[in-house]
Amino acid sequence: MAALRYLSRRSLGASFFVLRTFYIHAIRSLVDYSAICLTGLTPPVSQSLEVIQNDALRVMLGAPRWTRVVNLRMEGGLPSLARRIALRVVLITLQLVQCRPHLPVSALLKQLMCRQPAQAPQRDWARNTAAIVHGLGAAENLSQDPDSPFPGYAESPPWDPPLFHIFGPSEAKPRSSFPALLCQEGLSRVATLALPDSAVYFTDGSVSSDGSAGAAFVSDQLVESWRLSQGVSAFQAELAAILGALRHAHHHHRHRVIIHTDSLSSLQRLRFFSLRDNIFLLTAIYTFASLLVRRGADIILHWLPGHVGIRGNELADGAARAACSLPDITFPLRPGPSHLICTLNATIGRQSIEDHRLWVTEGSRSATWYAIATSYSLLSPPPSTPNYLLVRLRRLRLGFPGYRQIIGAEPDPCTHCLASSMEPLIHYLLHCPATTMLRPQPATALARSGDDLWMPLEVKECAPLNILLQTVRDYPPPQ
Ligand SMILES: [Zn+2]
Repeated sequence: MAALRYLSRRSLGASFFVLRTFYIHAIRSLVDYSAICLTGLTPPVSQSLEVIQNDALRVMLGAPRWTRVVNLRMEGGLPSLARRIALRVVLITLQLVQCRPHLPVSALLKQLMCRQPAQAPQRDWARNTAAIVHGLGAAENLSQDPDSPFPGYAESPPWDPPLFHIFGPSEAKPRSSFPALLCQEGLSRVATLALPDSAVYFTDGSVSSDGSAGAAFVSDQLVESWRLSQGVSAFQAELAAILGALRHAHHHHRHRVIIHTDSLSSLQRLRFFSLRDNIFLLTAIYTFASLLVRRGADIILHWLPGHVGIRGNELADGAARAACSLPDITFPLRPGPSHLICTLNATIGRQSIEDHRLWVTEGSRSATWYAIATSYSLLSPPPSTPNYLLVRLRRLRLGFPGYRQIIGAEPDPCTHCLASSMEPLIHYLLHCPATTMLRPQPATALARSGDDLWMPLEVKECAPLNILLQTVRDYPPPQ
């Protein structure tokens, strides 16, 4: 925490995003690492952990000690540590149960998850873990059969030559090159690799916005495509397309197989083989590849830039997109851990907003202010915005009272117009002549609300971000 405070000094120029990254990686990672051990904490100990995160949020956001904690969490985009621990516990349990099902601890956890969960934390980490998994609604995901290897898969001995010849991009950051250059380079590689008696495949996978997924390959005049199970990731869809091509090459006795894909992550995964997830999919690819290699085939995997106008890639892309809307699943595949992580993150985000809404319904003035002023959307300023301006802008979003209001003293007069007001922030936004550009014109439009708490909404609707930043730079809000 001392390091975080030091970094937050204005002279060092660390932005909110730098401070947040430092907190997540240097401080919260300790909680992530020990999440399983923290499941049985008593409420006072658990609360003392939350205090550390609350302090860190205040430092990061430049907010005073009396800012409401739920507002800080929403503004910093961080859930409470209790929710974070729950998320980590589910992910660790998933990894254990799915990837190491033979361990005694995995069997114990699966057994406990079939029972009614404990209501209160106990002195037993396994029962607490099972209760947390139930609480986040993830028990069903964990009780599925483990992700087993493809039938007939046998691990190659380490002295065997690699199954694939892999050709990646010529540059470290291919996406930063011009599309025309990428297209030219891709086409010249396609032409160089295409020797006689080669089976050439262009593969692609696609995931649509509603979570449906498709995979396809194109080879000469042949187009094959599959609709994959709902929730499959883009990475899995790309691997499924490569598997489809290898399976086709195996059944049609091809001796030189060239697969062009635009998925760099798939090629990297196949180059540095490891079975930590997607076990069925990866072992199926290796099984078909080794069957082809044993028959004397050469398998070449080539990275091709996507969406630069290479015909085979465009055709495969179109076929994979079209496959997303097929009526039936033709390639069942279990969604990988990334799907569960997305679902859990969405659940945690929803729960955090519910926590905040609870304060709004209980009549908290600052929580209501925050909900109206932000509509729970994150601040997205231009990257070059100095941190001190963001701190001033957050003063308007967080809506905390001034120090003199807190101690019940006579407030200082406005530094811009010398007017005196019991509500300095409301005076600043609603009446101060220095901030006229924030208010709707004509000014009478504000009269219709009648309630001061609607004021941030009026300002938010009328003043775009650049005007707000300019105003807080020239006329700082009251503290
Ligand atoms: Zn004023």
